Amino acid sequence: MKPFDESRYYLGKLCKRGHDYEGTGMSLRSINKRGCLLCNAIYQSRYRKKDINFDRERHRNYQKLYKLRNPEKVKEINRKSRRENRNEIRKYRREWGYKQCNSLGRYYIKQCLQGRGSDKICGKDITPKLIELKRIQLKAYRASQKYKKGELACQQNSQ
Ligand SMILES: [Zn+2]
Repeated sequence: MKPFDESRYYLGKLCKRGHDYEGTGMSLRSINKRGCLLCNAIYQSRYRKKDINFDRERHRNYQKLYKLRNPEKVKEINRKSRRENRNEIRKYRREWGYKQCNSLGRYYIKQCLQGRGSDKICGKDITPKLIELKRIQLKAYRASQKYKKGELACQQNSQ
């Protein structure tokens, strides 16, 4: 058996990946970190490579498990955070809406061009300028709707 630094490592239970140290049927484990040495190395290299999905997956799995084990606790935490961040959530949603206004409109324009929307445009009338105008009109309309909604929500909550 290859010698190892006994002040830092010890031979412990075989890890879940089955990293057998020199046929001893045991895994070399770190005294400081407790885990299997090779498993830690795998985790480290993935982490260093910024394999974000790997980390995310782990986190997601952990969250799922936690939720299954403590459903009431999770509900309470979510409720509490929603209550505490109500204003931020509202602000975020409103800003998100404005952002959408800038990117949307393509589908609407397409519908207009095909004569299926509420504003029918004849084929010969369509010019790039008209499309641009329609897009601006739609953007303004959507922004005003979003704004109205936001104001309403604010009023209702402050009452
Ligand atoms: Zn291992």
